Order: sequence, then C-alpha cells, then structure tokens
Amino acid sequence: MKITEKLEQHRQTSGKPTYSFEYFVPKTTQGVQNLYDRMDRMYEASLPQFIDITWNAGGGRLSHLSTDLVATAQSVLGLETCMHLTCTNMPISMIDDALESAYHSGCQNILALRGDPPRDTDSWTPVEGGFLYAKDLIKYIKSKYGDHFAIGVAGYPECHPELPNKDAKLDLEYLKQKIDAGGDFIITQMFYDVDNFISWCSEVRAAGMAVPIIPGIMPITTYAAFLRRAQWGQISIPQAFLSQLEPIKDDDELVRDIGTNLIVQMCQKLLNSGYISHLHIYTMNLEKAPLMILERLNILPTESEFNAHPLAVLPWRKSL
Ligand code: FAD
Repeated sequence: MKITEKLEQHRQTSGKPTYSFEYFVPKTTQGVQNLYDRMDRMYEASLPQFIDITWNAGGGRLSHLSTDLVATAQSVLGLETCMHLTCTNMPISMIDDALESAYHSGCQNILALRGDPPRDTDSWTPVEGGFLYAKDLIKYIKSKYGDHFAIGVAGYPECHPELPNKDAKLDLEYLKQKIDAGGDFIITQMFYDVDNFISWCSEVRAAGMAVPIIPGIMPITTYAAFLRRAQWGQISIPQAFLSQLEPIKDDDELVRDIGTNLIVQMCQKLLNSGYISHLHIYTMNLEKAPLMILERLNILPTESEFNAHPLAVLPWRKSL
C-alpha cells in the first residue's frame, strides 16, 4: 500500500501520531540476518506504519542488497516498505532493475534521490546517460510506472549543504520542482532546531506544496555521534542541547537518557505545530533509542490497539 494512502487512512480513523523507521544496508550477511531480526522485534514492539531501506552509492554489491532487503521486508516479513533509490553511479539499466525488483515484491513506495557522492569522492557527477537531479528520476519513474508508486522526496529545513550561500528561497524552489515532477511526500533531513523547522513548514505550504511533510528524527545515542552527525548534515545545534549534553558527554547512558528527553520535547513541539502527524526515525540500525523516544512520547500501541491491528501478527508467523 502507498504510504500516502496509509497515513490518510490512519488520520481519518485515529487522532494518534504515527511513525516509521529507517534502516541502512549492513555490510555482511550476518549483519543482514541481524537486521531482519531487529526489524521483526521493532515491528512487534511498536507496529510502525512503514519502514524504509537506504540506498548505497550505487553500482556495487550493496545496491543489490538494498533491493534484496526491500523484497524480503515487503513480501516475506510483510512490512510496508519504502525503497530509497539514487542516481549515483546508476545507469538507467540499473535503475530499471531496481524498480522492477521493487514492483515485483509488492513495494509501492520509493524515496527518489540524487544521492550522496561515493565515499572516495567529494563532488557529485552523473553517470553517462544517467540523471542529474532527483526530479529527473521522479519523472522517469512516473513515465514508466504511472501512479503505481508513491514517490517521496528529500527536504532540507536548513538548506542542502551544496547550495551556494544557503539560499533558502532557491532550496524551496528546487523542492517544489520535485513535487511538481510527481513527488507525493517529503521526508526531511535530520535537524535539532525545531523553531526553524516549523517556520520552514510554513514556507513549504506558502510555496504551494500541500503534500505530507515527514520530519526525519535522529535519536541521540552518544555525544560524539550527536556532534558528528550534525556536522555531517551541516545542521545547527541549539544552545539548550549543548548545555545539557556537553557536561555529561563521557557518560553514554546519561547522554542517551537526557538526549532522548530533548528529542521527545522536540517531537512534542512538532506534533503540536499542526504541520506534523508522523515521525520518521533514523534508527541507525539500533533498537533501543528509537523505542525509548516512542515510549516517552506515549504513542506506542496500547494492548487493545495492538490486538485489534490487522497486521499485529506478521504474515510469515501465521504459517508457523
Ligand atoms: P536534488 O534535489 O536533486 O538536489 C541535488 C543538488 O542539486 C542540491 O544541491 C540542490 O540544491 C541542487 N539542485 C536541485 N535542483 C536543481 C536545479 N533545478 N538546478 C540547479 N541545482 C539544483 N543519500 C544516499 O546516497 N542514499 C540514501 O539512501 C539517502 N537517503 C536520504 C534520505 C533522506 C530523508 C534525505 C534527506 C537524504 C538522503 N540521502 C541519501 C542524501 C541525499 O542523496 C543527498 O543529500 C544528495 O546530495 C541530494 O539528494 P536530493 O535527492 O535532495 O537531490
């Protein structure tokens, strides 16, 4: 089922906020097996609306693993799955293979991206005959599959890092081009400055984009990872985060506890803003921190909600 339909259906029947989990592709076979087990446990603990699988720089073994993971999560584990797909190192024939695999596995959701540059390079260049921007990939998916897929696009509340002078107006214009090309929902880059995020949402609406905005929520697990990720995404850190976390930076457990409280406050403000009803959690393939956030937000399913859920028992379990 399309994410957009699922979220709309939920909105009409329940006032409760929903959430989803992002996983990245592990490098080893054992890592993949561990991830299936983790997805299964996290599903049983929280019944997310969907999960998504990231796409690696393209062309290599990890790209095939992405399509395998999507196919297994969707058709074997029975999880509503969204496949990230990028243009990096992807000739059209490989894009065709990935889309075909997603289509045949029953996956109906693609997050269409240009992609990061491969690890050993600083700047991004297209492959010969390939796409230059995410909007080109979106148009291509639409031309080949019509409305079969709900297509998500990436949004940057603090501007895309490559954009000269952090020109917010131009960044919004490029976002609008992706929506006009066929984007059905926006998933955002991680952020900690919630006031900036909320005013960005009002600008997105004012620019004529009515699609769901899904905030990307990064749990805080250690102080070093917290700083590294903010630096990598070139996002600002509010003083309140620094003043609470810096003095306890060497105590990982305390950082996770206080960090989770900060993220929970951030999520509460988002949910109260009127723009947001769904939270997308970057799990970094970890289980504890995402579930702690949902538990402290008090939005995990109650026992009766769990029992009444049509997919509370995963399809493959039913056959055991
Ligand atoms: P685009 O929107 O195409 O933008 C790319 C660059 O071109 C930007 O600098 C933009 O400002 C500029 N631009 C856009 N349109 C125009 C135009 N018309 N004229 C001139 N310039 C233009 N990366 C991965 O490799 N794998 C993943 O799985 C992955 N998942 C992600 C998930 C989320 C939610 C987000 C927010 C990002 C993810 N990324 C992932 C990172 C993303 O691929 C990079 O940020 C990439 O640099 C930009 O991708 P995009 O789809 O936003 O590109």
